[in-house]
Amino acid sequence: MESMTNIKRGLADFVEDLPKVELHLHIEGTLEPELLIALARRNGVDIPYKTIAAARTAYQFEDLQSFLKVYYLGASVLREEQDFYELTLAYMARCKAQQIRHTELFFDPQTHLANGVPLAAVMGGINAALRDAERDWHISSALILCFERDRDPEPAVALLERACALGGIAGIGLDSAELGNPPEKFQEVFKVAKSMGLHRVAHAGEEGPPAYIWQALDVLDVERIDHGVRCLEDPALVRRLVDDRIPLTVCPFSNVALKVFSQLSEHNLGRLLKAGLSVTINSDDPAYFGGYLSENLIGTLSSLDLTAQDALLLERNAVAAAFCTDQRKQSLLRDLDQYGVSQQNL
Ligand SMILES: [Zn+2]
Repeated sequence: MESMTNIKRGLADFVEDLPKVELHLHIEGTLEPELLIALARRNGVDIPYKTIAAARTAYQFEDLQSFLKVYYLGASVLREEQDFYELTLAYMARCKAQQIRHTELFFDPQTHLANGVPLAAVMGGINAALRDAERDWHISSALILCFERDRDPEPAVALLERACALGGIAGIGLDSAELGNPPEKFQEVFKVAKSMGLHRVAHAGEEGPPAYIWQALDVLDVERIDHGVRCLEDPALVRRLVDDRIPLTVCPFSNVALKVFSQLSEHNLGRLLKAGLSVTINSDDPAYFGGYLSENLIGTLSSLDLTAQDALLLERNAVAAAFCTDQRKQSLLRDLDQYGVSQQNL
């Protein structure tokens, strides 16, 4: 009989080569300590950590709020269009290395505007890197503008219109401090986004209650819920999410780092799958939470005794939930099916 170690090694190999899709990724959350320190020096930004080791030590969190402080401090070193290009291209290189074929990235323009960085520099750098990754590595992508829910919603519509004029926006999202900032605050800009034909997603039910997920569905009319792990507290909500095939973009390493769950083996992802929900696995802010998409998949599947078939299901769910053309989805599904067949002895 095969030992447990061999089975886990086999699963890790299977996941590493598996064609993947990522749907919940904040580009500012891919800022590795090396680039953070380099950009702080290059741009003359004073940050409390002077070495890579000190920055790494600071990447320890008690909850979402303690993380956001470090995250926004990190984002303050991003000043020039070239900085956003390098940050985004470094993430896309990780995608190439991890067989991520399609990715949907969030960015937080309000943070950069507050730091005095022009919107055109932020979007110019990100979009140029996404174009280069598509041309050179055939990785497709979509860019999602996130509004920070702890800010005033009033200027949101004007910001959305400015961003759309620059081009390359596929949809809008809602992130940052969830508790005390219910989705309904941003009803107006989500209505406008829908009228413009943009996709809509929102973080809900990470630290916040199931009521925030209901609001995201009923008031913001979102197509996906980011996180959403607290939905299991409300059976009627689970029925709604299952019936309407609303995908959840779950981020297990993030949930453990921010103490939504005490450890991976306590994560409810297995129960979410059993409930029939359209679950996907994502890395959220991988530079801060200890791993990119492959590490999230391998760590979670092995901690919860899930299988290679579950990994295939998670990736099929991600393809179905992606904001790309039907033609692209068919191509991604074909790659997954072929990979599944080629590895069927596992
Ligand atoms: Zn997130």
